[in-house]
Amino acid sequence: MVKIGVAELKKAPGSQVEYKWEEKWPPLSFEGQEIPFAGPVIVKVVVTNTGNTFLVNGKVNADLNLYCSRCLESFIYHLELPFEEQYCSADFWQALPEDLELKDEIRVFTGDTIDLSPAVREALLLALPMKPLCRESCQGLCPGCGKDLNRGNCECHREDGDPRLAALAKLLS
Ligand SMILES: [Zn+2]
Ligand SMILES: [Zn+2]
Repeated sequence: MVKIGVAELKKAPGSQVEYKWEEKWPPLSFEGQEIPFAGPVIVKVVVTNTGNTFLVNGKVNADLNLYCSRCLESFIYHLELPFEEQYCSADFWQALPEDLELKDEIRVFTGDTIDLSPAVREALLLALPMKPLCRESCQGLCPGCGKDLNRGNCECHREDGDPRLAALAKLLS
């Protein structure tokens, strides 16, 4: 679990602690789909006690198994995201003025533990591409026969390809 024990840090405003986790996660649930991870989720952060809040700053790395929206093949999508969140106690959050723009961006934690997992999960989901591509140049599937055009041309493409070549092929046969 990507959790920070802040009991000690609470006593020392202005101080910072570094954390790193590397762990296996269950698949991400997204719009009825389950997206499995292809490796560990790596979270590396610095936590700062700002006096009233805990500022968490760092990076998230993860490899996800996605399906290409063009050729439908599975591929590994690497994500490297900046991660920044701010946490405070429920009491402190309540006391913040309603019109403070940042209020919605500050997360609340209780006790001496901050669980970063929900925020990391949200950051990963937000970073998922709408139309994943195994590579920019992916040729996709032939709309005629369904062949994966990354593995070479299909028969339908050869025929209605270059009309001069088709004429030549006719002459030769
Ligand atoms: Zn593809
Ligand atoms: Zn085809």
